[in-house]
Amino acid sequence: MELLKNKIRDDGIVLSENVLKVDSFLNHQMDPELMKEIGKEFAGRFRDEPVTKVLTIESSGIGPGIMTALYLGVPLIFARKKKSLTLTEDLLTAPVYSFTKQEQYEIAVSAKFLDSDDHILVIDDFLANGQAAIGLINVIKEAEAKLAGVGIVIEKGFQEGGSILRERGVRVESLAILESLENNQIVFSEKEVNINE
Ligand code: 5GP
Repeated sequence: MELLKNKIRDDGIVLSENVLKVDSFLNHQMDPELMKEIGKEFAGRFRDEPVTKVLTIESSGIGPGIMTALYLGVPLIFARKKKSLTLTEDLLTAPVYSFTKQEQYEIAVSAKFLDSDDHILVIDDFLANGQAAIGLINVIKEAEAKLAGVGIVIEKGFQEGGSILRERGVRVESLAILESLENNQIVFSEKEVNINE
């Protein structure tokens, strides 16, 4: 997705060989026009799947997730990372090890929003080691719902998340794949589309 890659080239900040900071358009300040195009792109790529709901994780997945849900005409659910006094129903939970915070936390989704008839599309901002996506997939399994696929805004192709998911047979669509962040350079991979295809 050229628009996204240009934004990453122009505004992305390489924090280390493993971490890209994109807080001017995705992780803190959000660019609504870009989010709209991201949503349209994911909706187009997953149009052939019978998606009934989009599932993401708070907070940076919500922008791309809500726009994807809008274009697919389905609701968005975001998994919560922190216990909330209003989260009183039966909960589906899974542990997730955070790549950026280097600590384990639990994600929770109210069981009433997922059931066995659902086909769920997982959307997230980054794919690194795959822990967030696997946590979301475990929540989907707990609900006995089906996984339609995983849509990622920025996949770091040099980390193992993409291959772990694809080896499990999960359809992963990433809008930009980074090959390397070495020497302060952002290098994109050409394998932008689903590697299973
Ligand atoms: P994973 O669970 O795949 O190891 O990491 C994905 C999660 O960690 C994403 O939800 C994202 O919030 C965060 N993350 C991983 N790598 C990066 C990165 O390079 N930059 C930013 N801003 N977030 C990242």
